[in-house]
Amino acid sequence: MNNLVFSDAISRIAPSPTVAMTQKARELRAAGRDVIALSVGEPDFDTPPHVAEAAIAAIRAGDTRYTAIDGTPALKAAIAAKFQRDNGLTYNDNEVAATPGGKFLIFAAFMATLNAGDEVIIPAPYWVSYPAIPQLMGAEAIIAPTTADDGFILKPDALEAAITPRTKWLVLNSPGNPTGAVYSHDDLAALAAVLRRHPHVWILSDDIYEHIVFDTPFATIAAVAPDLKDRTLIVHGASKAYAMTGWRLGFGAGPAPLITAMRKLASQSTTNPCSVSQAACRAALQGDHLFLDDWRSSYRRRRDLVVNSLNAIPGFECQTPQGAFYVYPSCAGLIGRRHEGQVLQTDLDVAEAILSAQAVATVPGTAFGMSPFLRLSYATDDASLTEALSRIGQFVEGLTD
Ligand code: PMP
Ligand code: GLU
Repeated sequence: MNNLVFSDAISRIAPSPTVAMTQKARELRAAGRDVIALSVGEPDFDTPPHVAEAAIAAIRAGDTRYTAIDGTPALKAAIAAKFQRDNGLTYNDNEVAATPGGKFLIFAAFMATLNAGDEVIIPAPYWVSYPAIPQLMGAEAIIAPTTADDGFILKPDALEAAITPRTKWLVLNSPGNPTGAVYSHDDLAALAAVLRRHPHVWILSDDIYEHIVFDTPFATIAAVAPDLKDRTLIVHGASKAYAMTGWRLGFGAGPAPLITAMRKLASQSTTNPCSVSQAACRAALQGDHLFLDDWRSSYRRRRDLVVNSLNAIPGFECQTPQGAFYVYPSCAGLIGRRHEGQVLQTDLDVAEAILSAQAVATVPGTAFGMSPFLRLSYATDDASLTEALSRIGQFVEGLTD
């Protein structure tokens, strides 16, 4: 082992901070601490029973073998029908694909298209894997800033300023992780006007939180600007809408040549998404969606609880997000204060101190490219949220100047 030299590619990235923080919370809990994890980005609901039953039926029916690389014909038909039904977008079966998780779909798209030195524009704050994956390929993540005052929405000027001849992709994520920001139809139309002037820029639209929206209706750029559909890849998956994070089933839609290139990569790497998960995802896509109304009401109630509680704690300032299940409060008012004599200098200090002193796990904004903020996931029960917020309040009360 001691003579193993690791690749330049792997040396360019760090482990995913969201996954790492969740693992840390798990370990502390296993060691006997009463940890409340607001770090993990996954629904606390169980996979709906009709979905689980479809998986059990698939196992019993012997659907336990390799499948077509990018999904069974039945699943691909269900995916195409989803885009038609929800988004008014028409895709053929050679324009949709299923993968083991949405994260791999992004990986495959970037691996299939990026060369060293290519640029990917990523609005900040961003989900942790958007810059890491291009960096793995030797490409550059070009961070386009947004502001809390703009609701963390990328503005046309900031997009225009970030585009160069080397730009290959713009990443859009709405509802967004980590802020919960939702791009309106008009926000996307304004970005589309810029993108029309730059036909070499492709758009990766990560719509995985589509079904978790509150007041602003969901919109996706390929539907808002149909002329951009032939350079847009939609990333989606079963994880968030159907509480299926462990099933590892992502799917997407985009131009056939891109899907074909991604399929070639999958044929030499993952082979196919889990056959049983494919049956489950098909049942989820085709089944009743009424349960989502209940889930959305729970998320909304929890969001309001968390936003109100945070804004009542001196030192935090929290916007009300329109979607997903995260809040992204500023903790600027805590920076410079002391916890047990130590000055809190960064949001990482704040997150670590809250975890060690009060056993509440959050993720520091530094992981998402905008500080000083914390990300809290409110996809957990009301009692845990109330307790967690009370502990954070106690933590702040204990700070000194
Ligand atoms: N996109 C975003 C914005 C996410 O938060 C996640 C969750 N990890 C994913 C994609 C990927 O999810 P999965 O791999 O579970 O489909
Ligand atoms: N999307 C989730 C999060 O941001 C899951 C972990 C991950 O894949 O990053 O916490």
